[in-house]
Formats: sequence, C-alpha cells, structure tokens
Amino acid sequence: MKLHALVYIVVGLAVTIISAFNDQLTLFVAVGIVFMFIGIIKFIGNKPVKELDTPRSPREVSSDNKYVKCSHCKAWNHPHIKFCHHCHRRI
Ligand SMILES: [Zn+2]
Repeated sequence: MKLHALVYIVVGLAVTIISAFNDQLTLFVAVGIVFMFIGIIKFIGNKPVKELDTPRSPREVSSDNKYVKCSHCKAWNHPHIKFCHHCHRRI
C-alpha cells in the first residue's frame, strides 16, 4: 500500500510537470495536483491502519461463524482451538 501511495504521488508529479510545460494541458496541472493529494492522503492514512493490525486486534470471525481468522498469518481456524494450525501462535 505504501508503494501504491507513492505511485500516485509520482504520477501526479509527472502529470503536473508535463502539463506545466504545455499550454494546452493546463487542466491537467489540476489533475496532477489532485493525484499528488490522493497519494499524500493514502500515505498518511495508511499509518493508523498498520497500528490496528497488531496481534491484540479482536478475533475476526467468518460470515458463517464457523471459523476465526488468525491475527498473525490470516489463516482460518476452528474457534475452539487456542493456537493457529498454520503458524502455531496464539490466536
Ligand atoms: Zn496463524
């Protein structure tokens, strides 16, 4: 996701620079700035999401309530077990 945000910024920057040198593409300067803005928002916005992805996050349960998702490796496990069958860490 970090790369994705950077792609937005780089594309926005490139569009802005190219458009700035071409009088017929004035509108694209705004498009480039919007792209850079989206990239920056994504870049900043991704950080709190990573903090939420800690092992302390609550159990994720499948739609039919039959399985719980391991917070470490995202493998599905039966809810009655305490340790993940895939990575052997505590769920
Ligand atoms: Zn696991």
